[in-house]
Amino acid sequence: MTLLSENEDFQKQLLQLVMDTLPQRVFWKDRNLNYLGCNKLFANDAGLMSPEEIVGKSDFELAWEKFTAEAYRTDDRAVIDEGIARINYEEPQVLEDGTTLWLQTSKIPLRSQTGEIIGVFGSYEDITSRKQAELSLKNLNEELEQRVVQRTSELYQAKEAADSANQAKSEFLANMSHELRTPLNGILGYAQILSRSQTLQGREREGVNIIHQCGAHLLTLINDVLDLSKIEARKLELSPTALHLPALLQSVVEMCRIKAEQKGVDFIYQPNPRLPEGIKADEKRLRQVLINLLGNAIKFTEQGSVTLRVDVLSLSETHASILFEIIDTGIGIAEENLSKLFDAFEQVGDEKKQSEGTGLGLAISQRIVNLMESEIQIKSQFQTGSEFSFIVDLPLSKNWVSSQTLIDGGDRIIGYDGQRCQILVIDDRWENRSVVQNLLEPLGFEILEAEHGQAGLELLQTQQPDLVITDLTMPVMDGFQFLEQVRNREGLKHTKVIVSSASVSQTDRQMALDVGGDDFLAKPVDAPSLFHMISQQLQLTWVHEAPTASASDSATVLTELILPPSTTLAALLKTAETGDLKSLRQKLNTLVDEDLAYRPFVDTVLQLASQFMTEEIEKLLEQYLENDLVPVD
Ligand code: ADP
Repeated sequence: MTLLSENEDFQKQLLQLVMDTLPQRVFWKDRNLNYLGCNKLFANDAGLMSPEEIVGKSDFELAWEKFTAEAYRTDDRAVIDEGIARINYEEPQVLEDGTTLWLQTSKIPLRSQTGEIIGVFGSYEDITSRKQAELSLKNLNEELEQRVVQRTSELYQAKEAADSANQAKSEFLANMSHELRTPLNGILGYAQILSRSQTLQGREREGVNIIHQCGAHLLTLINDVLDLSKIEARKLELSPTALHLPALLQSVVEMCRIKAEQKGVDFIYQPNPRLPEGIKADEKRLRQVLINLLGNAIKFTEQGSVTLRVDVLSLSETHASILFEIIDTGIGIAEENLSKLFDAFEQVGDEKKQSEGTGLGLAISQRIVNLMESEIQIKSQFQTGSEFSFIVDLPLSKNWVSSQTLIDGGDRIIGYDGQRCQILVIDDRWENRSVVQNLLEPLGFEILEAEHGQAGLELLQTQQPDLVITDLTMPVMDGFQFLEQVRNREGLKHTKVIVSSASVSQTDRQMALDVGGDDFLAKPVDAPSLFHMISQQLQLTWVHEAPTASASDSATVLTELILPPSTTLAALLKTAETGDLKSLRQKLNTLVDEDLAYRPFVDTVLQLASQFMTEEIEKLLEQYLENDLVPVD
């Protein structure tokens, strides 16, 4: 049986031509699955020289592997038996040499004119390269997905590690701060106790002052590091309260003026006369920013002036927009350093000055001003001076408490009016109890002591003290539990309790007040703040030292600058120039032993010597000599 009628030779030729020029492979088989014909490409794949050679052959005689041949035959058989075409399916073709090709195949049953199935017609296309591209794309995709999964899990782990490291860092810093504050409470507390002694003279007083200064410096560093970690953890928050703006500024000015004058730099304060009185702001933080900017201005200025200008840009019924400007005639900042200035730990310019700071001040100040929804701006000219400024919009308030009452105006408190008061101090550390005891007993308070809340509670019931000052972290019963007990007991609940703790975070402070503390005193204890709190809680009136003849004399002696004769000054200058600070100190101390009137002069130079500022000492002595302020020999 032939597939095409004999008289249709031309058509046969035409068909062969079409088949041989098709990009597809084409074949046809009879019902026994023996080949009847194919095109050239197919013959080529089958390992034959020409299409004619295929006639009568089975798949087992062609170039493919036996199992491939079987697979083809199974498919062909199914198409013939079922009479259903299979279109465009993909199948592998494994060749005898082991290579695999991918084919996209269609198989159609061949029918006679009467409709009877007489064989199968097939065509296929080699899609190996497309298949390979798809396959490698799929592999790449899978690999990519795997990589994404892996990276995501790595990132998650890294984030977890960073989070827990951050958490550990915060905890470490909080603990460290607490641990450092406790011994510092002893150091600063005793420095304050000793400096209140009237018998302390000369070198000893200077020594105590230095201990106090160094302790205070250490405390600033601890606070700076804590602040920075809070900023990093985005935990720094402002606590605005009503305050008296002129008083706050005045206290900042007083503090900075002393520092500027010690360096021979003019301090100019220019408040706008329209400055509002009561405002709402975070007093501590605003003060911190101003002191930092003014402190830097003074630190980096050797001659000329430092100016604090406070202007009112607008004033409404409820708000004031205030411009703070801190202007100095100091060393200035080079253009290329301006952008780094607010980064933590960045110090620029003169290395000698850098040793006096940590490079944290401006970073912290900028974040605080940012929290006030503003930004510190700088204008600076190298070698000419700098100008730092910021504008803040502050709500006005009438309910301010004058912060000036906090300032112990230098008058020594020696007691209080009225009956003797009893104060119970609860703290597990004896040195902390001892600081409070030694600050308060000389003023006439009777001090009771307890090592923990439980013991405190027992004493409270038997002794009924007028005021309790309690620590928070203690064994047996901590400060929180103690307060809870006190506030829930009928006879005790009105007891005045000041919480004093080295855990100074806003949360600890708030928690202490929430459980019933009347006030919060941070450790290390600042004596004026302690006195202020006590007077508020007990409604006390302090008795200050009476200005006796001798006291006022000594006050004069202490403030008036009396210089030694020029020969002595010249000798001191010579010693300073050799850099021998030890003999300089000895000479200064001899001078004050000879005549107490030189104390302010000696104190000023000793202060500089304690910070190894030999250049400044030389400049100061030269200035005294030049200005002819020195009495004739
Ligand atoms: P530091 O504790 O070192 O003073 P700050 O963050 O307060 O840290 O200041 C960072 C740096 O900015 C300083 O080390 C100094 O180089 C520069 N700087 C700050 N204020 C001034 C100023 N008024 N004049 C010149 N340089 C300044």
